[in-house]
Amino acid sequence: ARTTAADGPAVAALRASFEGQVLTPADDGYEEHRRVWNGSIDRRPAVIARCAGVDDVRTAVRFGRDSGLTVAVRGGGHSFPGLSTVDGGLLVDLRPMAGVRVDPDARVAGVQAGALLGEVDRATQEHGLVVPSGIVSHTGVAGLTLGGGIGWVMRRYGLTVDSLESADVVTADGEFVRAAEDENAELFWGLRGGGGNFGVVTDFRFRLHPLGPQVMAGATFWSMDDAEQVLRSYRDWIDGCPDELMTIVVQRLAPALPAVPPELVGRPVIAVAACYAGDVDEGEAVLRPMRRTGSPVLDLFAPTPFLAHQQMFDPSFRHGCWYHVRSCDVAALSDEVIGVVVEHGRRITSPMSSIALWQMGGAVARVADDATAFSGRSAGFTFNINGNTPTAAGFEDQRQWARDYWTALAPFHTGVYVNFLMEEGGARVRQAYGEEKLRRLTALKRAYDPGNLFRLNQNVPPG
Ligand code: FAD
Repeated sequence: ARTTAADGPAVAALRASFEGQVLTPADDGYEEHRRVWNGSIDRRPAVIARCAGVDDVRTAVRFGRDSGLTVAVRGGGHSFPGLSTVDGGLLVDLRPMAGVRVDPDARVAGVQAGALLGEVDRATQEHGLVVPSGIVSHTGVAGLTLGGGIGWVMRRYGLTVDSLESADVVTADGEFVRAAEDENAELFWGLRGGGGNFGVVTDFRFRLHPLGPQVMAGATFWSMDDAEQVLRSYRDWIDGCPDELMTIVVQRLAPALPAVPPELVGRPVIAVAACYAGDVDEGEAVLRPMRRTGSPVLDLFAPTPFLAHQQMFDPSFRHGCWYHVRSCDVAALSDEVIGVVVEHGRRITSPMSSIALWQMGGAVARVADDATAFSGRSAGFTFNINGNTPTAAGFEDQRQWARDYWTALAPFHTGVYVNFLMEEGGARVRQAYGEEKLRRLTALKRAYDPGNLFRLNQNVPPG
């Protein structure tokens, strides 16, 4: 019988057939498990289904469909706009499914959809191997992969999706399918950038690449007053640099961390952070000219365990703080773009606000644009502008700062990475994918989820 809400008997039946935990607001643990990473998102699902395995995922998806509840799906819970939770709906929580199995001889890893990046890195680095992923270790593998996945080794080894061999998926009707190059190929294409639109991925299988354990990595800091000179030197320095080098330019107030001298804390700085995904001495030589540019106020580059470098940004993105992001790609660091960066970087007032300007290209750009649903392979740089505060206090001002920075870059926008979108509406999703890819994704959506059961994502409506 179809019910319209999470009524008692329906939830009791779900519990009876479920291996994992089913939580409603009356249960212990509900408060803990309803929370997401972004503290500005405060929603209360009617039911949280904490899946223990694939059968639970199928049961939960069928329950969602039959109950008429709005379905949210959660991997690591790091959606910036909080798309992995829902007021009054069903939360399919995959976090308990976090197994990682590495086959070092075949150089592949099986990763369950609730795993975090750090869990995958730990398991793979034990064998001197890596899955290219993101730069904050508590981010979820699932959401990151389904959007594309950009990070420290992408210019050498490609996006996360470029190392994806196959994915296991529970579709809207509760069926289990495998997607790979030679099996449900169109679905496999769509999963590599199209987000959670087509079903719930339960397992990923990734190809692994050699890396580390040590890499040349870290960051050099300059006063924000030197931003223009630093950015111009940076632009010349990365021109023609090897794919092993991946850099991120950061603007922020110097953070209160053990590595930062007390007299620098709170001062506006611009930093070039980098990871050299290759020989440590080679990396040292490649980085030297940039580290000697102008008058740095702090230089933290050193041979570093890759695992440690992967956690460098963790303290800047703690759980429960208030986060707002604006993002865009640009083709190049033109003088005009540098002008915007210099001007708006000066206006940072929150110790938690920052920008990350990602250097793209390398292996990412060598894969054909239509090979996967991910868009933006030809981007020169990706801006991630974060207006953040520890609590609600002052959040509106920081959001406004991020929006103003982003708006000033509008003449140079070339696209946007779906995983860096807030809830910005269909036009922005269209901008992210472009007309051609959106048409293809819409056809796939119609085939796999005609009722739009999976709509809490950067949604591709079935039309
Ligand atoms: P969730 O909030 O759990 O899910 C995000 C979306 O994916 C939701 O729509 C959800 O329904 C859907 N989803 C989750 N799991 C599944 C599944 N198994 N099957 C189907 N749909 C699913 N991105 C990068 O590429 N590189 C980075 O370095 C990077 N760094 C980040 C750092 C931080 C601190 C944060 C907050 C985000 C970062 N991102 C980065 C963006 C990140 O990729 C997205 O926020 C991503 O959605 C996070 O995945 P998740 O599983 O943690 O999110």
